[in-house]
Amino acid sequence: MNHVRHASSDDHVIVQNAQGQSCIVIVCEHASHFIPDPYKNLGMRNEDLQSHAAWDPGAMRVAQGISAHLDAQLVASGVSRLVYDCNRPPSAADAMPAQSETIQIPGNMDLTADDRNERAQLYYAPFRDQLSETIAAISNPVIATIHSFTPLYHGQARAVEIGILHDSDTRLADMMLQLSPVHTVADVRRNAPYGPEHGVTHTLQVHAIKAGHLNVMIEIRNDLIQTVEQQDRMADTLSKWLSESLQKLTSAKDMQ
Ligand SMILES: [Zn+2]
Repeated sequence: MNHVRHASSDDHVIVQNAQGQSCIVIVCEHASHFIPDPYKNLGMRNEDLQSHAAWDPGAMRVAQGISAHLDAQLVASGVSRLVYDCNRPPSAADAMPAQSETIQIPGNMDLTADDRNERAQLYYAPFRDQLSETIAAISNPVIATIHSFTPLYHGQARAVEIGILHDSDTRLADMMLQLSPVHTVADVRRNAPYGPEHGVTHTLQVHAIKAGHLNVMIEIRNDLIQTVEQQDRMADTLSKWLSESLQKLTSAKDMQ
């Protein structure tokens, strides 16, 4: 893989509603399927370039909708997770996967330590630093990351429709699971279709758990957010659900 140099990598981190007044920070690590030109589409087949392997279809507009409803800042990555998965540490093999489900990613095979390090510097470091900076400017911040997953995985249909994911800090996830019947008729499950054992709680660990901030990761089955209307409705539902969950947690704390 030839080395890739960019004049600036700042434009690969997306910050929206930077003036947002909410204590909630919305995060979307898999917002984009964009692959910078020098990587030559990572040698992938055209039909795979916009598949769920490259990004989380629908997730960014849902994240934007929540950001708008709650007046929350949104931090997203502007490059495909196949270039660098911002929800993984540089040490993780799947930060730059050579295979995703059944899709081969030739441009990620045989990466040298220098190649990996360069991508981490170009795409992970600016994202991590921006998110840290955004969170540091808020007192008692709450971190909510928005993702989507494929309904069919290795040929198996997934019944779960919305996953509420957490690592060691379960507070916000517990409250959202408790309140889920009030907000949705969807099949909502804890730590499904992924959980911390799959390495998906990296952002939560680094940006929330270490400092004790409330946090949750929300995984939406992508067939439920295919159209703009569905995405906007999901954003509306999640906004109300998240804010009621936070209100209950805060008022429970005040009662102590
Ligand atoms: Zn994702």
